[in-house]
Amino acid sequence: MAGVLVYVESDGERVAPISFELLAAARELAQSLGGDVEALVAAADTGPLVGELGAADTILEVTSPALAGYLPEAQQLVLVEAIRARKPAVVLVGYTSAGLDLAAGAATATGLPVVAYCTGLRAEGSDVVADSQLYGGKLVATTTTSTPAVFSVVAGSFAEANGHAGGRGERIVTAPPAGLAQLRSRVLGTTGAGGGAVDITKAERVVSVGRGIGGADNIELAEELATAMGAELGASRPVVDSGWLPKERQVGKSGMTVKPKLYLAVGISGAPEHLEGMHDAGLVIAINTDGDAPIFKVADYGTTCDLFDLLPAITALLKPAG
Ligand SMILES: Cc1cc2nc3c(=O)[nH]c(=O)nc-3n(C[C@H](O)[C@H](O)[C@H](O)COP(=O)(O)OP(=O)(O)OC[C@H]3O[C@@H](n4cnc5c(N)ncnc54)[C@H](O)[C@@H]3O)c2cc1C
Repeated sequence: MAGVLVYVESDGERVAPISFELLAAARELAQSLGGDVEALVAAADTGPLVGELGAADTILEVTSPALAGYLPEAQQLVLVEAIRARKPAVVLVGYTSAGLDLAAGAATATGLPVVAYCTGLRAEGSDVVADSQLYGGKLVATTTTSTPAVFSVVAGSFAEANGHAGGRGERIVTAPPAGLAQLRSRVLGTTGAGGGAVDITKAERVVSVGRGIGGADNIELAEELATAMGAELGASRPVVDSGWLPKERQVGKSGMTVKPKLYLAVGISGAPEHLEGMHDAGLVIAINTDGDAPIFKVADYGTTCDLFDLLPAITALLKPAG
């Protein structure tokens, strides 16, 4: 029992950024716990993905038509079999919409403990100490778990840049589990929420709107600016709770963690729960009429202009003439 096994998420063509974060975390853990960093990649065609997994010492490839797209039952079969075969000390899965059921399901099937919502992991002897967000980030629980164990990790918790290289990159092609031939569920199709699924955690620029936007009808102002800037639209929790924007756009403790190069906070006060989701952003610019708003403590640039004056003006400047 040694090493760290990373479950690799992908869309079949590209490895998801969370997986690079997990590989970075795995390397840190493996340095203390010993053993290899192993990446498990399960897809209809692992070919396009393997080249991106240079941070792993061993790349375990499982290929089957049944692994096209994300089907929890199929992916869980593969992960469970890999855990049984490789006996890793630590299994890392992203706390993503795919990973949150996968981690729990695989842990249950293998009889391992699972620690969810991890934002920090470190080895102490043969144990792993994990920081987990609770109650939407109101509390951080620090737990010590003896290995082997499964941990699901919140996006944005580890440096993705450290998860691209540094491993031996040896490939091991593994036969798909027999159970893939008798799956009881199948994907009928996927529909993007609100007409198109977004992943704001990957965005290089985010225009985030807060309650200061005043209502659903005004979201358009921020949308136009985001389009002109080539940015994704983010939101504070009240905006999502009010139904002005979908949950997938929420930034913060109980939403997404984003790391854009540019974060424009529009009518957002800067509550700790919001800041938790964007503290790793590069340049932070705040628009807020209240000069005492806490967002200005983290902003590189800020203005107390009224957003209703400023947003259309910036959009007009950025829009191509004519
Ligand atoms: C368990 C828990 C989890 C939470 N998780 C999250 C989370 O994931 N994400 C999150 O965002 N929050 C979260 N919250 C809520 C958080 O505590 C704050 O309530 C929330 O972030 C406030 O959102 P806001 O900044 O949009 O609204 P407000 O705090 O109401 O701020 C609105 C701001 O807009 C400014 N404003 C008003 N009009 C204008 C104008 N015309 N022009 C410019 N500025 C204007 C105001 O000055 C004000 O600062 C959580 C809370 C709890 C208890």
